[in-house]
Amino acid sequence: MNRRSFLAAGLAATATPSFALPPVRFTITGAMEQGSLAFGQAPPDSLVALDGRPLSVLADGRFVFGFDYDQTKASLITVRYPDGGGDSRSFKPSLRNYEIQRVNGLPQATVTPPPEVSARIAHEAETIYLARLTQSGGTDFLSGFDWPAPGIESGVFGSQRIDNGVPVTPHFGVDMAAPVGTPIHAPAAGIVSICDDYYLDGGFTLLDHGQGVSTSYLHQSKRLVKVGDVVKRGQLMGLIGQTGRATGPHLHWAMNWFQIKLDPSRSTRKPKPDPL
Ligand SMILES: [Zn+2]
Repeated sequence: MNRRSFLAAGLAATATPSFALPPVRFTITGAMEQGSLAFGQAPPDSLVALDGRPLSVLADGRFVFGFDYDQTKASLITVRYPDGGGDSRSFKPSLRNYEIQRVNGLPQATVTPPPEVSARIAHEAETIYLARLTQSGGTDFLSGFDWPAPGIESGVFGSQRIDNGVPVTPHFGVDMAAPVGTPIHAPAAGIVSICDDYYLDGGFTLLDHGQGVSTSYLHQSKRLVKVGDVVKRGQLMGLIGQTGRATGPHLHWAMNWFQIKLDPSRSTRKPKPDPL
């Protein structure tokens, strides 16, 4: 089943494969691929664990988790029902073929950042890491995501560059090429948890959608929200730019479940952004 019909079906799909296994009283839906969000529904007041660790469950029994971009083993979901019974079931994400680009002959200084900025870069990475530890009670992620801007998808999630023979961090986001000044709109409601200028990320905003789900916006020329703002779906958040380490004007759009990096294009209500 493709991911669009999963999303369209909402929570109707069943966790039960068509062979052998007895039915369970919970469902998991989503793209079910590496680097995607998975949505669970259990009876209200159930307790839920992911690989043996408790997961936060909303009052109506819904919960969320993410499959890591390189995850090859199954995630084990265990649910204890309010009547005392329980079930466990494994969910294995389908594997993706990420792009690999080999780039040779780069000046080494562009591959390794200069030492005088490494402390600043480390501090900014830690700030983002700490913000993504937040377990807020919001449920804004449940209504799905719009594309935050029009544009051309100029970079896909998970692609890996090998610079001068050294693998660099895979590309954990979607790049949307558009002119400087193109508006960026909130793809879902959320709370602004970071809004700052960073060395590599440029104009940077982190939006918390609840239950560990967050999205981030990099290289902005202008940021039009501030920390603590409660933004609505579709609200103007900033303008596309070329700040930080960017070779052209674009929005780098990223999604996380806590520290797990997800492909935002796997959680959008439409498969492609609007053209410019
Ligand atoms: Zn990017």
